Amino acid sequence: MRRKKKDRRETGNRLLSAGFLCYTPPMENHFYSLNDYCREQFGEKLYKLSLNAGLCCPNRDGTLDTRGCIFCSAGGSGDFAAPAFLPIGEQIDAAKERVSRKFSGGRYIAYFQAYTNTYGPVEYLEQIFTEAISRPEVAALSIATRPDCLPPEVLSLLARLRARKPVWVELGLQTVHEDTARLIRRGYPLSCFSEAWSSLHALRIPVIAHVILGLPGEGPQEIYETIRYLSKSGPCAPIDGVKLQLLHVLEGTDLAELYRAGRLTVLPLEEYLPLLAGCLKRLSPSTVVHRLTGDGPKRLLLAPAWSADKKKVLNAVNRYFRDSGLRQGELYPAPKETVLISLPKRIKTGLPPSGS
Ligand code: SF4
Repeated sequence: MRRKKKDRRETGNRLLSAGFLCYTPPMENHFYSLNDYCREQFGEKLYKLSLNAGLCCPNRDGTLDTRGCIFCSAGGSGDFAAPAFLPIGEQIDAAKERVSRKFSGGRYIAYFQAYTNTYGPVEYLEQIFTEAISRPEVAALSIATRPDCLPPEVLSLLARLRARKPVWVELGLQTVHEDTARLIRRGYPLSCFSEAWSSLHALRIPVIAHVILGLPGEGPQEIYETIRYLSKSGPCAPIDGVKLQLLHVLEGTDLAELYRAGRLTVLPLEEYLPLLAGCLKRLSPSTVVHRLTGDGPKRLLLAPAWSADKKKVLNAVNRYFRDSGLRQGELYPAPKETVLISLPKRIKTGLPPSGS
């Protein structure tokens, strides 16, 4: 098995240096995981270091709203990130220390996670992102933001950064349905996401879409429509990566009030597993799955309680995938030849093209 993986990596590297896109999903597994992708593209597993740029969000500072998305905690989805008052270099050191029991001696992804990480003066963004990618142990930069916070000067900064190291942009889509988007106070229409996706794609910057499973009013059909947009019908489909996230009800959010008032039900594990499998089956095999459930901060988690036991959840997921023989993309209606290596398309990996 090890020899097979090495051969695949060598083939991948040869194709990359020849200017080809290489995204052969390693289907020994049930889905194309971030670890598989990193091993193919970087030759090793990378670990994420959660960083905090100290920025806010237009959905919280009054530009669009003051209340934020209804599921978002006061930490702005960055409850695991380092304190914002620390310089980026110190945040990187502190984050490395935090993960050192699980991982040391390898390279990392600098992940700007909290709030909206392109919502600030471009000079400041250049300073913090450059500081992060200047560290030799940082192999890639991942920036979480909103699609309505990518003005031309930020896009050109991202292009400059990408020429130095791989850059990925994570966009909080959550759903393609405008009714749900209004209900959760996302604050932008689907067309805004489509435009941002196209702009980033044109710069060859991989886009990772966040999708929430279990939003109020959404069942399997609505969720699969979101997956279909990302896999088939969106402007640059299939998307480079997804984070599938179970809807968590966190203390201090408006969702918590709905839940306490009995106006919201959360998914039980028995429903979440087939729903997750249904998403993966409909997802393009070339899309990297960065997350399968997500884990809300335990001190804030109100529901679903089962999601607090991460190990148990992952075991249940693995068992379900194994027993059902799941394969990512098995319901993705693409001809076989588009799934494998030989796409004459320039690199979609975030790596600079060979020779640049
Ligand atoms: S856009 Fe992100 S940071 Fe802003 S309120 Fe929504 S989830 Fe929170």
